[in-house]
Amino acid sequence: MARPTCANIHTDALRHNLAQARALAPHSRVMAVVKADGYGHGLERVARALEGADAFGVAALSDADRLRAAGLSQPIVLLSGFDEADDLPQLRRLGVESVIHHPSQIEMLEQAAPGEPIRCWLKVDSGMHRLGFAPDQVREAHARLRASAAVADGIVLMNHFASSDELDPAQAGYGQTRAQLRAFAAATEGLDGPRSLANSAAVLGWPDAHAQWIRPGGLLYGISVVEGRSGADFGLRPAMTLSTRLIAVNRVRKGEKIGYAATWECPQDMWVGVAAIGYGDGYPRAAPSGTPVRVAGHDTQVIGRVSMDLMTIDLRGVPGAKVGDPVELWGPELPVERIARASGTIGYELTCSITRRVRFVES
Ligand code: PLP
Repeated sequence: MARPTCANIHTDALRHNLAQARALAPHSRVMAVVKADGYGHGLERVARALEGADAFGVAALSDADRLRAAGLSQPIVLLSGFDEADDLPQLRRLGVESVIHHPSQIEMLEQAAPGEPIRCWLKVDSGMHRLGFAPDQVREAHARLRASAAVADGIVLMNHFASSDELDPAQAGYGQTRAQLRAFAAATEGLDGPRSLANSAAVLGWPDAHAQWIRPGGLLYGISVVEGRSGADFGLRPAMTLSTRLIAVNRVRKGEKIGYAATWECPQDMWVGVAAIGYGDGYPRAAPSGTPVRVAGHDTQVIGRVSMDLMTIDLRGVPGAKVGDPVELWGPELPVERIARASGTIGYELTCSITRRVRFVES
């Protein structure tokens, strides 16, 4: 029998979330960020569901290749930019646009063989200090790009926020986002071209940053990065349900300890469920005892260490639990953000971590 572990991808939820993004930023075009295999949901499947987006954002040229092979003709933007002159013919062939964040890329464009001009997204480092031109270098970079025959008209000016998920003015990140907005405005003042600033959190919480293009990723998958709030709090629907089944139900005596390293002790005689999922499927090993899980529609908790193929579950709140009962690890009834918080990470990392032995189905 096939392993019952399954990631169900809800394409209607993806479409719903795209509509939510449009409703939140009605004057902006939407670049759907589908990098990292569509945040682990499956690149082609996600892109087809989101074909109403105005562009797709990817991190690798190979992803652009896959999108074109799947017949998608929307603009595609390489969010980390090309890094070798040898990439340019492929960018042209696939009609891919590129983020430009470093002078070395401008040099490669200036020296490029004649060919189809490439649309560029000039990245300003407004304060995150990852990719981008420092504010005092932006004008020169813009002028050089405009002068290059390899660059298409209509350079987009963009930045990326470090802390836009902090929506409360009392949080340090709130001030950082304000400062990034000011730095971006000053660095790009007087330069023509559309602007793009907003990731998901900024789409949700920073309408000043919507501009001509928004770039949501997590929001489209129904995942929130805003502390203490799930996607549902913003009217979003989770695009993934991760589920499996109980493969054993065991009676364990009071005082006995469960699993590797015996980290959880039964406080009473009780039923313990064993579910066919573990870190070999991408469920986080860091999820401690107490992490929420649902069995046959009842809320309960993980107990003991998560192992490679299996996890153990407290069945005290699950009357009549039996082998074969469905287990939901996350999904519409259990936001992935809760499992992420318990495990010391974010929902994005969890959906990106599902491994290949998990069966993906669409609904
Ligand atoms: N824009 C850029 C440049 C990114 O790197 C990312 C993802 O990290 C996004 C947009 C989407 O971010 P989010 O998934 O938080 O919306």
